[in-house]
Amino acid sequence: MARVEFRNVRKQFDDQNKQTFTAVAGSDFVINDKEFVVFVGPSGCGKTTSLRMIAGLEQQTSGDIIIGERIVNNLHPKDRDIAMVFQDYALYPHMSIRENLSFGLKNLKKPKDYIEKKVQEAATILGLEEMLERKPRELSGGQRQRVAVGRAIVRDPQVFLFDEPLSNLDAKLRIQMRVELGELHKRLGATIVYVTHDQVEAMTLGERIVVMNKGVIQQVASPTELYANPKNMFVAGFIGSPAMNFIDARIEQGRVVIDGAEFLLSEDAAAGLQGYNNREIILGIRPEHIYGDDFAPGVSTEHQMQAHIKVVEHLGSENLVYFKIGSRTVTAKVHPETKAYNNLDKQFIFDLSKARYFDPATEERIV
Ligand code: ATP
Repeated sequence: MARVEFRNVRKQFDDQNKQTFTAVAGSDFVINDKEFVVFVGPSGCGKTTSLRMIAGLEQQTSGDIIIGERIVNNLHPKDRDIAMVFQDYALYPHMSIRENLSFGLKNLKKPKDYIEKKVQEAATILGLEEMLERKPRELSGGQRQRVAVGRAIVRDPQVFLFDEPLSNLDAKLRIQMRVELGELHKRLGATIVYVTHDQVEAMTLGERIVVMNKGVIQQVASPTELYANPKNMFVAGFIGSPAMNFIDARIEQGRVVIDGAEFLLSEDAAAGLQGYNNREIILGIRPEHIYGDDFAPGVSTEHQMQAHIKVVEHLGSENLVYFKIGSRTVTAKVHPETKAYNNLDKQFIFDLSKARYFDPATEERIV
């Protein structure tokens, strides 16, 4: 069973001035056997440190790390039965692709026949058969990336660890490799832990996603759950592009008041927000849940307000419309047939059935 578990794992670093810095602040999670889990969050949030602690490249300050059935706290990286794919691929430039793929197994003193079989298998899976005699410099970025993955595959590890493996590829290749990695996971049926700061990569690859910020796990959930029911404003703002709008609002007798406009709350929302009567809240609504009044098929027209359009961006399949409510800029992602241009005063429809409400002090979601 290739599961990975963190039990209250902390990692502290001492900087040059002997100040202690907490990179990972007591993480708890379970990654199930054969699961594809993505660690995502902004730069410096502790993703790579968490991955390196699974690999044994970094020793945790406290807490337990379990891989399979074993507590691996004091186990050397080579004894953890994991394989890591790095951002820079770490290929040996003077070796052929075949030698690069074989290297780890030779070090483990595996028999020659076995090594050949494993290299051939990995080359077939990754479409590298024609390139085995070439040197890394004779390959494209995407092919080099596949070799790096191949080096992990030949070892049949319990767990694959990926540290931003696509970040050195251009946008088009990144999408192609993203699809390939997703397929590879299905084919290998392996447990994969994958680090990225790219929320689109996280959403498309992860069966579950661990969202981190400043060393603290914010939420662990499936992509759809994170998107629909973010636990707090950090997750709500981080997952989704363009980001969720946050609008200053007030609750008054079962209504939400936004910049002078009053909207009746649904029964569920009213019940959840009972303790917030006559208080300020933050209303969160995604750009695709705001419509122009001339193109809102199937949406209740109950919740409308007028706004002055600042800027419109035409993206072809959709338009992004920016307007202000109070001091906040709001983004609407509307159908291209919606009439919208700079400086137009327009009625917008808010699909409040999709809105989320947050406590301005704690930034936690209320309902
Ligand atoms: P990025 O996306 O930029 O790679 P990350 O989420 O992977 O970020 P980590 O590399 O895990 O972040 O680093 C977390 C924090 O710990 C950062 O603030 C970093 O500066 C700090 N840190 C990491 N390694 C060390 C170290 N060896 N010594 C001191 N501080 C470190």
